[in-house]
Amino acid sequence: MLKSLKTEVKPTPEQRVTLLKAIGTCRFVYNLFLAEADKRYEEGQKYMGAYDFSIWLNHEYLPRNPDKRWIKESNAKAVKQAIINADSAYKRFFKNQSGHPKFKKKGVNEPSYYFVRNGRNQPIVCERHRIKIPGLGWVTLKEYGYFPTETNVIHSGSISLHAGRFFCSVLVEVPNPEPVKPQTEGIGVDLGIKSFAVVSDGREFPNINKTRKVRKLEKKLKREQRRLSRKRGSHEKNSKKGKDSSKRYNKQRLKVQKLHYRLDCIRKDYLRQMVASLVKAKPEFVAIEDLNVSGMMKNRHLSKAVTQQNFRGFRDFLTRKCKIYGIPLRVIDKWYPSSKTCHFCGRVKSDLKLSDRTYVCESCGRLIGRDLNAALNIRDTMRYVFA
Ligand SMILES: [Zn+2]
Repeated sequence: MLKSLKTEVKPTPEQRVTLLKAIGTCRFVYNLFLAEADKRYEEGQKYMGAYDFSIWLNHEYLPRNPDKRWIKESNAKAVKQAIINADSAYKRFFKNQSGHPKFKKKGVNEPSYYFVRNGRNQPIVCERHRIKIPGLGWVTLKEYGYFPTETNVIHSGSISLHAGRFFCSVLVEVPNPEPVKPQTEGIGVDLGIKSFAVVSDGREFPNINKTRKVRKLEKKLKREQRRLSRKRGSHEKNSKKGKDSSKRYNKQRLKVQKLHYRLDCIRKDYLRQMVASLVKAKPEFVAIEDLNVSGMMKNRHLSKAVTQQNFRGFRDFLTRKCKIYGIPLRVIDKWYPSSKTCHFCGRVKSDLKLSDRTYVCESCGRLIGRDLNAALNIRDTMRYVFA
């Protein structure tokens, strides 16, 4: 199976220039693809896939726009990949799998610099402290020994730019895992806002967004964002001081990006820790709810909390980890009333409110924490599919 690894890299000043230029070219070509596809769609012309677009770019667009010849100066494979990505994004949109692809914006959602190995003869070489990237040469890794150094295990990779730092991801071939022998009974996990997760074995993972550290950072982010939007006003209006104020604006934007990045890291780290501690005991299976996230997002009061919790990210991490350890992951039918059913007698209490933190059964008289009751039901129900 293929595994993705990511670490920060330290390009030289020359490599930075090459990378920024290539990323800029990829952004331009990606956006050109979307604009051209939109235009053709409106004019009722045939859609142009990645292959046809490349031909059009070289034989029609560039001859007509000689001022855009700089497109050819960047690594051709990286540019080609940007075209392929735009094509796939547009096709997903056609298949109704996603909304209209977004145009890439400088400093916001920059495209990545892609590289692939050139057959078996020209593999991507990696040493303990550096990786040789087509079009760039040797690039220094920040974390030594994180990427595999055996020949021919790196398939492809990309370099991306986040908050002023460069990161390299690689796809490597790793052997398929042996299924583990289960050592503990299966577990059910109930996800929520009050606590992030309550496990059927009684464990509880608090909501990290309610900790002081995260709340303080969120507050700081809000403050810096306000400052940024004030600077945006002055840098657009004030043409005389334009250069100075746009410099200040960019500096402020980087500050905001860095805060976003820090919060993102804290939250992702927490998700990883939770997932690791769930699979560590090697349970027979893990069962989770099929959360109707898009339904929850429509609830104005819940949507921010749900975004911050990143349930989808949690599920992705869990799916990946379970696959690696060979632990079956059960996804419970979303119509199964896990909170409303009494775990002891099976009675369904249809008028259970979100504010009822304790489940009191009128039928058998038992009393149990709301989330623990749900987690136990999730563990024991047969209404599931495998992820
Ligand atoms: Zn009961």
